[in-house]
Amino acid sequence: MFLKRLEIAGFKSFAEKIHVDFVPGVTAIVGPNGSGKSNIIDAIRWVLGEQSAKSLRGSKMEDVIFAGSDSRKAVNFAEVTLILDNTQNLFPLDYTEISVTRRVFRSGDSAYLLNGQTCRLKDITTLFMDSGLGKEAFSIISQGRVDEILNSRADERRNVFDEAAGVLKYKTHKLQAEHK
Ligand code: ATP
Ligand code: MG
Repeated sequence: MFLKRLEIAGFKSFAEKIHVDFVPGVTAIVGPNGSGKSNIIDAIRWVLGEQSAKSLRGSKMEDVIFAGSDSRKAVNFAEVTLILDNTQNLFPLDYTEISVTRRVFRSGDSAYLLNGQTCRLKDITTLFMDSGLGKEAFSIISQGRVDEILNSRADERRNVFDEAAGVLKYKTHKLQAEHK
């Protein structure tokens, strides 16, 4: 098991702190339109370092902070923590559990934490590179992406499989070497 728990507070539609515990097997999140299913996936991409507000379906980063509803006032900051299992030492850190936290305030201040210690975005990106879980990895297939894959040219579709098999980076290196 890889993902253990996701904690969300003040992020998008989640004003109150909520958590999702991932148990062994398949976890499905179901609910009516607009109930926040995609916001949960956005929270995972955000905590892994997503920098594009547009790809989080907003226009500026502040849009990830709960903006208020009929019954609740807006909040001043959003915080997401993702807890991962590291008993298999997939990540080169001396911890059996890894927690990654990202926080952003309306003032624009923001912070990343790795197991409770302040760190840089670069530390998070480096940690997840090649793990298959980075913000751009194939592990997250967003709405519309399936159609995109089915409708793409054969060679473009091949890239998706190459990436999943972990050979895309070698092919890319080879191409770069050949063009030097
Ligand atoms: P669908 O089944 O249509 O895909 P969904 O369950 O994936 O729906 P989401 O897209 O996750 O729904 O949630 C959309 C809701 O989140 C909208 O009601 C929107 O108003 C709310 N929302 C998004 N950002 C914020 C924010 N910053 N503050 C408050 N609510 C927000
Ligand atoms: Mg959705």
